[in-house]
Amino acid sequence: MIDYHIHTARCGHATGAMADYVAQAKLIGLKEIGFADHLPLLKGWDETLTMPESELSGYIAEIKEQQSANPEISIKTGIEADFIPGLEAETARLLASQAFDYVIGSVHFINGWGFDDSRYLEGYQKREIYDIYKDYFELVKAAARSGLFDIIGHLDLVKKYNFRPQTDFTALLEDAVQAIASAGVCVEINTAGLRKPVGEIYPSKEILAMCYKAGVPMVLGSDAHEPNQVGMDFGLAVATAQEIGYKEVAVFRNRERQFIKL
Ligand code: ZN
Ligand code: FE
Ligand code: FE
Ligand code: ZN
Repeated sequence: MIDYHIHTARCGHATGAMADYVAQAKLIGLKEIGFADHLPLLKGWDETLTMPESELSGYIAEIKEQQSANPEISIKTGIEADFIPGLEAETARLLASQAFDYVIGSVHFINGWGFDDSRYLEGYQKREIYDIYKDYFELVKAAARSGLFDIIGHLDLVKKYNFRPQTDFTALLEDAVQAIASAGVCVEINTAGLRKPVGEIYPSKEILAMCYKAGVPMVLGSDAHEPNQVGMDFGLAVATAQEIGYKEVAVFRNRERQFIKL
């Protein structure tokens, strides 16, 4: 099995050094992992959200060191980058400054509001939940189309605190999935949602089935922020993917995609 979404203490809100995550991955028998720590925020940098820009090259170097020290496991150089409209060129510049195997694009902000951050939950009281979902999935579409990313991270993150629209929002999902399919990017099956108030994998089985039908490839990620979370709940993730029809998982090297059997 492969876990492509692993953070480290560098981001300021995870615990454990890279070596601890690698040790856990080996312990549970993963064949390949990828670190995907948070790319430095280009605006409103917050030491509790991402590493500073000055640490990016050290992050890459440490992944290479870990790979050299642990030849029995494949360790890829990934990154989780925020999609923030207006900062596409800056983001592209930062991503091009290093050699990544893959880039996960995530939407964590709606007009500057960190909607997935427990410090800012009052934002859910200020507007209709449907309108929040609409804005969120518009950003996901723009992220997919931006050409910046290989993978869309936690596609329905907006459900994290279990705020659900009263009205049907299937059309928003269909639109987002179409955009992802047309852009040729992957969806991530992210098990972190099971550890959050929503208690569900990102994305939901319904959305994952839409992705499968649209021909969107998938990758697996735990979004580990503690070493013991590496590969967590992958049994359920794989079973869900297989029930839907997925037979392959995508892997990346130098931002080129290949597939291996699930
Ligand atoms: Zn994080
Ligand atoms: Fe994220
Ligand atoms: Fe993450
Ligand atoms: Zn994440």
